[in-house]
Amino acid sequence: MSVNLRIPGPTPCPDDVLQAMSRQMINHRGPEFAEIVGRITDGLKTLFETKNDVLTLTSAGTGAMESAVVNTLSPGDRALVVSIGVFGNRFADICRTYGVNVDTLDFEQGTAADPERVAEALKADATYKAVLVTHNETSTGVTNDLGAIAKAIRGVRPQILVLVDAISSLGSLPLPVDAWDLDVVLTGSQKGWMVPPGMAMVSVSKRAWEAIAATKSPRYYFDYTKAKSFLEKGQTPWTPAVSVYFAMDVALRTLLAEGLPRIHARHARIGQMTRDGVKALGLKLLADERVASNTVTAVRVPDGVDGAALNKLMRTEYNTVLAGGQGPLAGKIFRIGHLGLVTEADIRACLDALRLALPRVGFAPVAA
Ligand SMILES: *Cc1c(COP(=O)(O)O)cnc(C)c1O
Repeated sequence: MSVNLRIPGPTPCPDDVLQAMSRQMINHRGPEFAEIVGRITDGLKTLFETKNDVLTLTSAGTGAMESAVVNTLSPGDRALVVSIGVFGNRFADICRTYGVNVDTLDFEQGTAADPERVAEALKADATYKAVLVTHNETSTGVTNDLGAIAKAIRGVRPQILVLVDAISSLGSLPLPVDAWDLDVVLTGSQKGWMVPPGMAMVSVSKRAWEAIAATKSPRYYFDYTKAKSFLEKGQTPWTPAVSVYFAMDVALRTLLAEGLPRIHARHARIGQMTRDGVKALGLKLLADERVASNTVTAVRVPDGVDGAALNKLMRTEYNTVLAGGQGPLAGKIFRIGHLGLVTEADIRACLDALRLALPRVGFAPVAA
């Protein structure tokens, strides 16, 4: 029996995607690679629902976050970071690293950002050049209402840059980049895309390109202008993770055949099934259900239970790998990933394993 890898990335990959990874190398400056990168770029535009440029970078997701900052913001620029957890805080840290003058608008862990408060923060200070926001906060299992946030932002500052970390949502949850008028939207291959780690994908709007031309932050590897000019020749500026491009090419074929409506419905169904199942075991969710994520579920570790011991037992005796809590939530929650390649049977197996493991780490559910 294979391991039930239920973490929010890296996610399991289909067999044909794994087989694509074992292909012989090709010339990354030759016609075959140009065809592959062209097809990947077109497929991504469809799934991002955008006519903007889409760039692929050989990088972890965090590299794409850094790229968004260094390409659009200069030292001394003012930016507002809307944070509902660890990954929102990471966006703010990256900004500070590059001398961007950031204010953070923080919301309590397990809650979503309030669009009205984002609008108020923008009304209170007209100097912000950008708003940075996480679509799906993987550390707390919360999905922000990004459509409402974007609308609130545009209502106050129609031309401000909106930079979005969509690493654990794009390709799984609805995120129409052009309809919501988002400037830089980034994601990573190892989340809902069913591809091994190694590729980050970024959409860049016309408004963002205008900012990029004037940005003074130092950048070399992650220079969007170079990436765009090489993409026009069917290349990347530096040697790409060729095997990951092979894999993405195959995975996109599957995702495009399934189509966005069915992909979104599948994640919604499995997210609901996970939350219902967890509650039926007598456990409590971290997030309010109205904002709970359909790609990752954060579950409170019950009183008297050692979260690390639970995850260890699940891994060693029930073949199920769960994620722990990050930052301030370490030991307080565990997380179940359900994005990309995931079926009802995977979630049922995970819930069955939890039912058996929990009493062994001292959990006595209170009768409903
Ligand atoms: C996974 C994740 C990241 C970090 O991606 P890496 O590839 O580990 O750098 C950032 N933001 C969100 C929302 C994520 O889910």
